[in-house]
Amino acid sequence: MSKNLTFAELIKQGGQELNLNLDKKAVLLFETYKDLLLEWNQKINLTSITDVNEIAIKHFLDSLIILGEIEVKVQCRVVDIGTGAGFPGIPLKIARPDLNVVLVDSLQKRVAFLREVIDKLQLKNIEVYHGRAEELGHYPEFRESFDLAVARAVAKMPVLVEYNLPFVRVGGQFVAFKGPETDEEVKLAANAVFELGAELEEAKETYLPFIRDRRSLIIYRKTKHTPPKYPRKPGLPEKKPLG
Ligand code: SAM
Repeated sequence: MSKNLTFAELIKQGGQELNLNLDKKAVLLFETYKDLLLEWNQKINLTSITDVNEIAIKHFLDSLIILGEIEVKVQCRVVDIGTGAGFPGIPLKIARPDLNVVLVDSLQKRVAFLREVIDKLQLKNIEVYHGRAEELGHYPEFRESFDLAVARAVAKMPVLVEYNLPFVRVGGQFVAFKGPETDEEVKLAANAVFELGAELEEAKETYLPFIRDRRSLIIYRKTKHTPPKYPRKPGLPEKKPLG
């Protein structure tokens, strides 16, 4: 079905399936983003997906599924840890220009790409930081200051929660974008989540528009302050995940 639709139609109709009304400006911004992604992907490794329809579905619409599943409050402060080529943070900003977004990635070349995207798309209230989550999570301006942290395809859950939860304010949420079959990962992270001051709120199962691939959103709620010793030194969460 998706084969007969243009990139713009996929974005528009896929957005409707996710209960989003993406206007003409948003669709144009997605077009420009896709063009920049393909152009820069010739020079640096950003994505293995190079078919435009697949970019629309597997990167852009996939990034937006959260908006159809949880309430993301107006002007809320969102951090995307390990954003890579901007997923899910930039699609979220395009679909919801009111959001205040911070993108974090440890690879300088990807950060340069993200700066170019923000500049060309003239996005406001969005910043990019080059660095590791383990370091930035201790910066006073970031620590426990976000309403929502998101991460897609960055690490296994016990590692991911140590990267993300220190950024979330008490009462805020961390949402991990995952594929199907997350039970084991979620179980393995249970002690770490408690130690970092959060609770599992919900594991939502959903589907990608058009291709019906299964996706999970694992939603954590911060209930207490994260102890100051977390996140541990760079590399340690991955080497010795909290258990
Ligand atoms: N979230 C994007 C997506 O869904 O396409 C990128 C996924 S890519 C597989 C993982 C990204 O996380 C890489 O760009 C990598 O540089 C970044 N990353 C991994 N560990 C990190 C850390 N500890 N702090 C910051 N960024 C990290």
